[in-house]
Parts: sequence; structure tokens; C-alpha cells
Amino acid sequence: MLQSKVQEDSYLHKGMRAQLINTLRGKGIRDEKVLTAMNAVPRHFFLDTAFERIAYEDRAFQILAKQTISHPYTVAYQTELLEIKKFDKVLEIGTGSAYQSCVLAEMGAQVFSIERQRELYDYVGNFFFIKKYATIKRFYGDGYAGLPSYAPFDKIIVTAGAPYVPEKLISQLKPGGIFVIPVGDDKGQKMLRITKEIDHKIVTEEMGNFDFVPMLEGKNS
Ligand code: SAH
Repeated sequence: MLQSKVQEDSYLHKGMRAQLINTLRGKGIRDEKVLTAMNAVPRHFFLDTAFERIAYEDRAFQILAKQTISHPYTVAYQTELLEIKKFDKVLEIGTGSAYQSCVLAEMGAQVFSIERQRELYDYVGNFFFIKKYATIKRFYGDGYAGLPSYAPFDKIIVTAGAPYVPEKLISQLKPGGIFVIPVGDDKGQKMLRITKEIDHKIVTEEMGNFDFVPMLEGKNS
């Protein structure tokens, strides 16, 4: 279970976080802006205090509604692929714990994040740390539809395993924009980086293999 009371970010936490950043560097993450942002967001705030000691291991944890907070490496990898610039308008599908949203906001992005689980959506609304970022807007809804009224986006990130690339999301990407989405089934997904070129041509690159919870249709109340 996530918990919502204000937590402390002690020297011990900061030390463990610095070690995690080194681990991510060792695993090949090169974008220093990503690493700096992840060093600034206390991951243990997003987990139950029972996990405080292990919050900085490179592993996923269960949160509410049987969902997960992704591995730090996965967060770093997807964020690096997005080539985030300050003031980028970013659509995120799968708010979950909002850890990824906070990393993006820390990098100066304007974040529009959709979650389909009501319980998680409501929980994050009361989470003290997210209030630090006025640039995160959250929506309860089905990510397959995207957010047509806020489109187009500079970047789109899907943080759940999708069975296919939703056409509606591609149409909400700006020319010159980047869309990162893991596509596959319950046995695993391949990370795709889809670029919409200025002439609207779509270029798809296949990246590494991952294991996400599924991207499901519709909302869950
Ligand atoms: N970015 C999250 C990872 C959460 S796991 C984090 O940093 O913690 C993936 C999330 O995607 C889950 O919360 C799940 O409920 C959500 N999800 C799955 N399908 C979805 C959909 N169609 N629309 C919106 N959210 C979805």
C-alpha cells in the first residue's frame, strides 16, 4: 500500500539514491538531466514506509490496485528515449504512483497524465509530494483515447504494456515529436520509440525488452 503522510528525506535516503543513480549510469543511462531529476525525486515517498530501506534498489514494487511502480532503470530508460526538453508538453498513459510524472516535471516538462484506476487516481490526488509540481495535470480516464482537447504533445509515454500502438495517440503527437511505448503481451514487451517527422512520416525503432503490467481498455471505478 502507498501511504500519504509527509516523509523525511534523510542523509541515508540521499546516500542510497546517489548509489542508485550510479547503478543506472553503470547500466547505460547517459542523459545527465534524467539522472539529476531522478536524484531529486525521493522514490521512497512513493512507497509504503515498510519498503523504505529497499526503495532504492533497482526493482519494481506493488502499489495500490495491483499496479506497480516501474523499475528505476525502466523509468530512466523511457525518459532518456523521450529526449525531454524544458517546457515539453508530455502525455503520460498510466500515472500509477506518479513517480514517472514527477521525474518528468522535475526536468521541466508540462505533464498530462492519465490513470484508469479510480483508487490510484484518488490516492495520488492526496499525495503530499505531487503538490510540489504545479506542472502536472492528472486525468481519470482511458489512455487509449489520449487527451484530444490538449493535443498535440511534444512527447508521449505509455507506462503499461500495450497490445498494439494506439492510432489515436500517434495522431496526438506533434510533427517532430517522440512517442515511447512498450508493445507486446503478458510474456513481455518490446520498447518502441516512434518518431513523427516534420513531414508526418512515422519512423519506428525497436529498443529493449521489458515487462510491464498491461494497458487495459476502459476505466476501472
Ligand atoms: N508510471 C507509473 C507506472 C505505473 S504501472 C509509475 O511511475 O508509478 C502502469 C499504470 O498504467 C497502472 O497504474 C495502470 O492502472 C495504468 N493503466 C493501464 N492501462 C491504462 C489505460 N488504458 N489508461 C490509463 N492508465 C492505464
